[in-house]
Amino acid sequence: MAILIEAGPDAAQTWKKVLRSHESNLDIRIYPELGDPQQITSLLSWKPPSGLLPRLTSLRLLQCSGAGVDQLLGHPDLHTGIQVARLVDSGQARDLATYVLGAAVAWYRRLDIYAAQQALYEWRRIFPHPRSADCKVGVMGMGMMGQTIANAFMACGFPVSGWSATGKALNGVETFSGRSKLLAFAQKCNILVCALPLTPETRGILNDELFQVLASPGLVVNVGRGEHIVESDLLAWLERDQLASAALDVHKEEPLPSSHPFWKHLRIRVTPHIGAFADPQNVAWQVIENHRRVLAGAPPVNLIDFHRGY
Ligand code: NDP
Repeated sequence: MAILIEAGPDAAQTWKKVLRSHESNLDIRIYPELGDPQQITSLLSWKPPSGLLPRLTSLRLLQCSGAGVDQLLGHPDLHTGIQVARLVDSGQARDLATYVLGAAVAWYRRLDIYAAQQALYEWRRIFPHPRSADCKVGVMGMGMMGQTIANAFMACGFPVSGWSATGKALNGVETFSGRSKLLAFAQKCNILVCALPLTPETRGILNDELFQVLASPGLVVNVGRGEHIVESDLLAWLERDQLASAALDVHKEEPLPSSHPFWKHLRIRVTPHIGAFADPQNVAWQVIENHRRVLAGAPPVNLIDFHRGY
């Protein structure tokens, strides 16, 4: 029973090396060299290339190599016999939290403005002095990523609230749940962080209705998926409120086309989807454990619920 790795050539070799370092006798194959496809029961892939799944007639597990699985939800070749799991890496969540905190703090502490002043040899303090306690942070999505982001802000003294489907409790965080509480949650937030999975319910959730209730100055940080944002609504909000800003790591179209207005907008920070990546060293055990579990007829860890979409 074999594991097939489908990834870029360097990443695939890294995965193979790390998996073998955990268990030396694993039968590991690297796409496109399948060997006998009937022996492959687990596939590690972010999004299987078209035509691959129908060839893997014994496949029981698709282990997604990322945290988000939206790219798999409508995959035409996924049938009910294949269980889908994702990788959950607390180190990745900490890395994502440093991205969000960095983007938020650069904005709130006006580091961009001071960098511009430095270029002009200008010594000018801007008052009132920004205090963490005066800047309300709202985190949308209180899963592995959102909770770690919320904790990072709290450690720096920001008041934090969180919004999720079921009202995930986290010490020190005011929690809200469900669509009916979304505006109450977002009201008067200065920093709104989206760490949601992309599902039919969350697509387009960062829209004008939400931007209208944010406090000014307001910053939207999106580390979820590009499709969470209604781009025209974001641009209209930035036009309307000259103190509003956005930091966007994820984009509807990646790479972001050079003609896209986000590139040149003075109050939008664009990064090329570099928030955080799972470290094979941290999550190799999940791949191996799940490979074993599905062979034993047990449910894999971090199983995706396709009905709810994450
Ligand atoms: P989890 O599955 O652990 O958490 C998802 C959270 O979103 C849960 O709190 C869930 O609520 C909440 N949620 C889902 N649907 C809704 C909804 N309709 N309304 C309200 N809340 C909802 O995911 P992770 O935290 O691991 O990852 C979240 C996303 O972050 C990923 O799907 C991916 O898109 C993105 N990501 C981006 C990275 C980057 O580099 N930019 C890196 C890693 C992840 P509940 O708890 O109640 O179920």
